Amino acid sequence: MRREWTMVLLAAIGCRGEKIMSHKAEISRSEEEWRSLLTPEQFRIARKKGTERAFTGALWDNKKEGEYRCVCCDLPLFSSSAKYESGTGWPSFFEPVSADAVVTENDSSLFMTRTEILCRRCMAHLGHVFPDGPAPTGMRFCTNSAALSFVPKEAPSP
Ligand SMILES: [Zn+2]
Repeated sequence: MRREWTMVLLAAIGCRGEKIMSHKAEISRSEEEWRSLLTPEQFRIARKKGTERAFTGALWDNKKEGEYRCVCCDLPLFSSSAKYESGTGWPSFFEPVSADAVVTENDSSLFMTRTEILCRRCMAHLGHVFPDGPAPTGMRFCTNSAALSFVPKEAPSP
């Protein structure tokens, strides 16, 4: 009897949690559309919550000045001014370009509780945020290169 109540309670908490945590994408496309717009690696990471292997992405060691945008919808997400060398092999930032550029959700996959970072506009999976970053925020936004496109500050004219 007690166990049943526990289950009901857990179910109730679960539903409520889900409602609070679920965000709505402004840009939403079918899986097929995303697949046709992205490379297989970008699709696997940004749309299927994958993770690239450390030190393999195009941007972890990028030191150029510029803007990091969502690979799916082109929303500016991070600036090179907030990028730092975290030693993890993934592009790491201490803050997003603005407070509403990204949203976070609880991720309890892989037997860990982590905080997932998503693009606010299209809900692309970007990576995770951890509370072990440098000043001024103390946060580490750990992202995948494949979820980002880099736009240099002074793009050469065509
Ligand atoms: Zn996006």
